[in-house]
Amino acid sequence: MKELTIISGKGGTGKTTVTAAFATLATNKILADCDVDAADLHLILTPKELSKADFIGGRGPILDGEKCIRCGECQRLCRFDAIEFTEASGYSINNFACDSCGLCALACPEKAITMADTINGQWFISDTRAGKMVHARLGIGEDNSGKLVTLVRQQGKLLAKKENRELLINDGPPGIGCPVTASITGVDMVLIVTEPTLSGMHDMERVHGLCRHFDIPALVCINRFDLNLHNTEKIRNYCNRHEIALVGEIPLDQVVNKAQVARLSVVEYDCGRVSQVVREMWKKVEKELDI
Ligand code: SF4
Ligand code: SF4
Repeated sequence: MKELTIISGKGGTGKTTVTAAFATLATNKILADCDVDAADLHLILTPKELSKADFIGGRGPILDGEKCIRCGECQRLCRFDAIEFTEASGYSINNFACDSCGLCALACPEKAITMADTINGQWFISDTRAGKMVHARLGIGEDNSGKLVTLVRQQGKLLAKKENRELLINDGPPGIGCPVTASITGVDMVLIVTEPTLSGMHDMERVHGLCRHFDIPALVCINRFDLNLHNTEKIRNYCNRHEIALVGEIPLDQVVNKAQVARLSVVEYDCGRVSQVVREMWKKVEKELDI
């Protein structure tokens, strides 16, 4: 089984548009939406939930008011001001301020505070018209999205093996931080979707640096290439210099927005020039992946 992750660095370059189109075109595959902080692939693929499970991403303190003798030691020690006190309710923990360091549990003389697993979100296996998809929802303000990305990928791989699929397509998160690292380590290929803007180019170079660091082959696609032909030429030169295959240049076209509004991938919505470029691009990616 091969694994392809589609990333962009900068958000809003059209990464999910390309992923949704590939999801439609690829036949024997499983999809994984690794953009767990702000998942959006489901907006196009309208998944029907088959199973759901909690994501336990870490541990947090629980205060047992019955055992607490109101000595105030936990509040004195907490460097995050996460322990609150009122005469009426005594001491309590503000989970939004808490950093889960565990010091209060260690220091409490009455063992009134214990560290317990915390549920930080949910992950799902769903059916879509483009095949099965693993996706997740991180709780509001919750941390550990890198861990959740790893879980989504693991579950995607398990499902692909179970169903004898030849490919796992991951819609990666934006940025270059921990969730992106979690979405690309060990994959067979990364496709970087960029755009000819300064921030798009800057972030393409950063994510490409990340791929090189992990020794992962990368391909590039320029979305809305005709937005700035001067910058597009710079991206072409960058790809040449670094021997990266430039697999597609997608023109700026309102059909992309219209397809999104219709909740369809661009290749489902239209068979015009954007659709043709994306189809040709998919053929090149298939060839590079050797599937
Ligand atoms: S350290 Fe323990 S006993 Fe003291 S106030 Fe905090 S929870 Fe209560
Ligand atoms: S776990 Fe750490 S941050 Fe959270 S309340 Fe206890 S001392 Fe404060």
